[in-house]
Amino acid sequence: MTALVLDDVCKAFGKVEVLRNIDLAVEDGEFVVFVGPSGCGKSTLLRVIAGLEDATSGRIAIGGQPVNGVPPAKRGIAMVFQSYALYPHLNVRDNMALGLKQEGAPRTLIAERVAEASRMLELGAYLDRRPAELSGGQRQRVAIGRAIVRQPRLFLFDEPLSNLDASLRMNTRIEIAALHRSLSAAMIYVTHDQTEAMTLADRIVVLRDGRVEQIGTPMELYNNPANRFVAGFLGAPS
Ligand code: ADP
Ligand code: MG
Repeated sequence: MTALVLDDVCKAFGKVEVLRNIDLAVEDGEFVVFVGPSGCGKSTLLRVIAGLEDATSGRIAIGGQPVNGVPPAKRGIAMVFQSYALYPHLNVRDNMALGLKQEGAPRTLIAERVAEASRMLELGAYLDRRPAELSGGQRQRVAIGRAIVRQPRLFLFDEPLSNLDASLRMNTRIEIAALHRSLSAAMIYVTHDQTEAMTLADRIVVLRDGRVEQIGTPMELYNNPANRFVAGFLGAPS
């Protein structure tokens, strides 16, 4: 099954075209990384996939179902942002549980899912704390936990590690790779960090000015960049 299909997706804000004719298929279980310069449309593309923005034209399917016009909560996706977006007045347990509660999931199921996610992310000792009582790395793990408990078929990460310092960034990257192996869900991950892109990706999508410049495995792009722009992003000599 294909987790995501984008067919000729365009997005304009007023007269400004931000996404131009994006075609992409992501397979179940695949880890796809979007890279490209600031302002090239990476976040907008994630938001269009998530349903937080409507595409101006083109078709989007998630798990084989067309989702144009379907609200974010019903798309089978979960999104993790750079800014965590945790609720300050809720403890870790309730922050993780909130999405499932809003979907009307039974309490026992919610408790099971939260326990499982906090085990995976080593958050068990912090369940009663509020976000202000956590480190940046712990907060980001809560944000990831909140996504995991919903068991989405597709995870969307928008530069999730860019607020963390270098050593935490590496640890969290390794955790995300381990999660991907154990969850076998499809993941789309935006980063401007070359190491993250090269180590996490099954395939990398290079975006430039709202278009797909090249798609390939890290090795394909490294060894055969389509042009200097792609080479510049992945650090291969050009
Ligand atoms: P990236 O994540 O790659 O840095 P974005 O997707 O955030 O890029 O932005 C792509 C372009 O779209 C930028 O020029 C940005 O200013 C513009 N943009 C993003 N969101 C909006 C919006 N809500 N209204 C108008 N322009 C927007
Ligand atoms: Mg962005």
